[in-house]
Amino acid sequence: MNAHAAAETSAPETSVPETTPTAASTAGATARRLTANVHEGRLLAFYQDLHAHPELSLREHRTAARLAERLRDAGLETTEGVGGTGVVALLRNGEGPVVMLRADMDALPVTEETGLPYASTVPGVMHACGHDVHMTCLVGAAEALVRGRDAWGGTLLVVGQPGEAGAQGSLAMLGDGLFTRFPRPNVVLGQHVGPAPVGTVGHRAGLLMSAATDVGIRIFGRGGHGSSPEHCVDPVVTAAYLVTRLQTVVSREVSARDAVVLTVGRIQAGTKANIIPEEARITLNIRTQDADVRARVLEAVRRIAEAECTASGCPRPPEITVTSDFPVTSNDPATVARVSEAQRQAFGATAVIEYDPLMGSEDFPYFGAAGHNGGTEIPYAFWFIGSTPWSAWEAAPGDGPTQKLLAVPGNHTPRFAPDPAALGMGVTALTTAALACLRPAP
Ligand code: ZN
Repeated sequence: MNAHAAAETSAPETSVPETTPTAASTAGATARRLTANVHEGRLLAFYQDLHAHPELSLREHRTAARLAERLRDAGLETTEGVGGTGVVALLRNGEGPVVMLRADMDALPVTEETGLPYASTVPGVMHACGHDVHMTCLVGAAEALVRGRDAWGGTLLVVGQPGEAGAQGSLAMLGDGLFTRFPRPNVVLGQHVGPAPVGTVGHRAGLLMSAATDVGIRIFGRGGHGSSPEHCVDPVVTAAYLVTRLQTVVSREVSARDAVVLTVGRIQAGTKANIIPEEARITLNIRTQDADVRARVLEAVRRIAEAECTASGCPRPPEITVTSDFPVTSNDPATVARVSEAQRQAFGATAVIEYDPLMGSEDFPYFGAAGHNGGTEIPYAFWFIGSTPWSAWEAAPGDGPTQKLLAVPGNHTPRFAPDPAALGMGVTALTTAALACLRPAP
């Protein structure tokens, strides 16, 4: 928390209203009315501008300025520089709950290959995860809720979050007083684009996304001439054994009922064929869906790394560092029911589908987590909006959705190109969700 922390430290007593079929239907119908044709014109231009000028995590200066400008123009009290480049905008609209809408702002170190006329102009950087879509939907929803302020009561807390890709941004904003300098929300809502067909919204009550933990291991050997290994401790050989042995964690130490992935994604050592280096480094990524399993896997990694170094006669124990840590995304069932029912009313029952838990990860849950948000648990819902054009979806090889999902360009790939129709859909989905949680007008 910083020196700005002051007012509004107590949570509002108002809670999110009960959901009834009528309330859900009203939210869906009102959102459709407020967001009709919203993806056209200025909003599309805003999206294409963001897409053409991507910025990496925690350096979203231009992006944040554009987002703040649009939110300020819409009439929201807008603050920049929260937790680095974070943007916070408030719309106070009388009695009712505080509803937070969050979009992330960062792009990825990927070279774009979409060939789109508005493709990235920044070499080696691309909005390959669709965070430009999220910001555009956030602006569209905020503008719609300003236009429709007669239809609801409460406070809208609109958040543009930096640095999602490294799991630092949400914690940085919370650490900079997001919930003390600004009203603490009763509910937190967020959405992500994915490669499902455009027009679909994917929900899941409870576990939706996995925890992800990056671990760096530094192995200390004793370097020397490649012709006399007997005078050295070769960290390359130790690293090789370590990588191999780590494969036994999932296969031999974790129950088949627990979903875990352990990938050693990077290994670095040495400069030349005839030099034994002083050290080797490996970096691994662990995905888990249960806190106890995560702890057990981390303990196994630590034990194996230390034991391999001992076995090799390393002069020092390894340095083992957790470099990034995403929590499990576990949606509040009541909030998912409220939001998905309203979206069903907005889009029709077949558009809203249930997702299976994913191995991907998000830092969004930190906003809800009591251990991180400076108070008690805050319920949240996070959902996916489809973005693959129907023509591409139908042309993709495979019979069922699972095969087609593997065949179309997905998030983090150089050809990920969301259909602009996903913008309109995403604006309506977010507006609907907000209205479902705010106080309906009498
Ligand atoms: Zn993303």
